[in-house]
Amino acid sequence: MKIAVIGAGITGLTVAERLKHTADVTVFDKARGVGGRTATRRAAPYSFDHGAQYFVAKSEAFKSFLKPALNEGVLQRWDARFAEIDAAGLASEMSNTKVWSEEYPHFVGVPGMNAFAKFLSRDKNIKTATRIGKLVQTAQPVEGIWELFDDQNTSCGAYDWVIVTTPPEQAIELLPKSFSNFEDVSNIELLPCFSLMLGFDQDLSLPFDAALVRNSPISWVAKNSSKPGRPTSCSVLVQSTNDWAKKHVDDNHEDIQKTLIEECSRLIDIDLSHHKHSAVHRWLYANTVKHRKNNGEPFIDVEKQMAAVGDWCGNARVESAFLHGDRLATSLLNRLKPVH
Ligand SMILES: Cc1cc2nc3c(=O)[nH]c(=O)nc-3n(C[C@H](O)[C@H](O)[C@H](O)COP(=O)(O)OP(=O)(O)OC[C@H]3O[C@@H](n4cnc5c(N)ncnc54)[C@H](O)[C@@H]3O)c2cc1C
Repeated sequence: MKIAVIGAGITGLTVAERLKHTADVTVFDKARGVGGRTATRRAAPYSFDHGAQYFVAKSEAFKSFLKPALNEGVLQRWDARFAEIDAAGLASEMSNTKVWSEEYPHFVGVPGMNAFAKFLSRDKNIKTATRIGKLVQTAQPVEGIWELFDDQNTSCGAYDWVIVTTPPEQAIELLPKSFSNFEDVSNIELLPCFSLMLGFDQDLSLPFDAALVRNSPISWVAKNSSKPGRPTSCSVLVQSTNDWAKKHVDDNHEDIQKTLIEECSRLIDIDLSHHKHSAVHRWLYANTVKHRKNNGEPFIDVEKQMAAVGDWCGNARVESAFLHGDRLATSLLNRLKPVH
């Protein structure tokens, strides 16, 4: 049984991990590396996690899935000094500092967030830098019923099942309109987010390592270099709110950068304009809008031997990506016979 998984984020890699002893699985990703939104960008001497900041494990299934990576130190706790900042800024009475719950440790990949995806990729057949452009039903289904083509129209082989784990906006470009849940998938929207990456030649004496911001275009500020195993050069990661990003989605990045630097400097009362490095990344599909399509279950078309799944079956969290990939894999395992 040959299975193609499109997307090497946490959902796709979970599916591949769970099916590896039962099927011949190939994972495709358009990016040069694995991890999707659990991304890390290096700009020596700095490093930035410009996607997911950390994740927690509330379910027993996810806790147990994380164990090998925790044992190897690829995942470690980030015991950040945490603050909540109100629009009026750090000095405001509405702002406060908190201790993160001991019950749910905050995990990060080491040396970057993408280390966990790299760990999961080790024993898998992964084809990166391969953007799947179309899925074509084979005329003579000898080796599989779906033939995949990349965006150069080169065949990437034929498969019995295709599992699409991209954001829904990208999934509907690949799924046939006759896919049983096509309408449902096309009605799911992911919102954008801007990540601002700043590097400094001196340490910034921030009174927090991670801060949730309310009532501002900014939703999050973190000292990236306070995470375990990062380069020591001071790096700061700022994220916009999804609503603000939606309004400014096509603005040029210089304007985005200027606005976010000014707003963040005001909030934390430190002038951030003296940075040595700066970059902005636009995530077009960052965060889910709450929905209850399909009761949060993966979308599976058994007749077509095709499925669509991602964090967006629930909420935009790494644990949700795992849980929905895991559910999809369990459902397929009940249908497939082992290869050995
Ligand atoms: C800015 C930001 C901050 C976040 N913060 C947190 C946080 O603090 N905690 C938390 O738990 N979660 C956070 N998240 C959410 C978390 O990153 C996601 O829930 C999770 O990583 C989603 O995994 P996924 O595999 O479902 O999707 P993705 O990671 O999006 O993976 C989909 C993959 O599909 C690939 N792809 C798309 N189209 C194609 C194609 N045609 N061919 C081949 N490949 C394709 C993409 O390159 C991508 O790698 C954040 C996300 C963002 C963007």
